[in-house]
Amino acid sequence: MAWPPRFLFIGGTLAIDFIHTGGLDVRAKWERWNTPEELADWAEASPDLGFRPTVTEAERKAAWELREAIWEYSRAIVTKERPPQHAADHIARIAATPDLVPTWLDGKRVWRDGAPFSQVMSTVARDAITLFGTAEVEHFRKCANPTCGLTFVDHSRGGKRQWCTMQRCGNLMKAARHRAKTKGETS
Ligand SMILES: [Zn+2]
Repeated sequence: MAWPPRFLFIGGTLAIDFIHTGGLDVRAKWERWNTPEELADWAEASPDLGFRPTVTEAERKAAWELREAIWEYSRAIVTKERPPQHAADHIARIAATPDLVPTWLDGKRVWRDGAPFSQVMSTVARDAITLFGTAEVEHFRKCANPTCGLTFVDHSRGGKRQWCTMQRCGNLMKAARHRAKTKGETS
């Protein structure tokens, strides 16, 4: 995988992949939804969505707002602070609307065709509540590279996953440790 890939699906769950697409301040350089088309591209590429919705500019703006709310909530979880009420309320408001309807295709789950984009947003918001509001949250963590802001749900056996990806942080940190060790041995 060349770094950075256009879209990052390393969050382990839909809501976390959703917030790894850009945002305000330092995250602006990662922005992947500059147009409604790009947001549709993201949904199509997402392993949890996998279909191309129609997205309007107003819906892209609404997606930005939901992304900020989930981002703020997730930061509070990482720093063990109380999640901001406005973020919790925003996520709950979107989750209260109709979500995507699952159906079968050759024994596999797919989403029913022609869903309005608002249903995608509701599914994302519900996923965030399921993650942060249940025991799942115990598997939620930040990448062990202190300068990396990416987070993920650790589904690895033994729960020992440390890095967002080996490409971005795992190899960097291993190389740094190796350098520190080698230096220690020669001096
Ligand atoms: Zn990382």
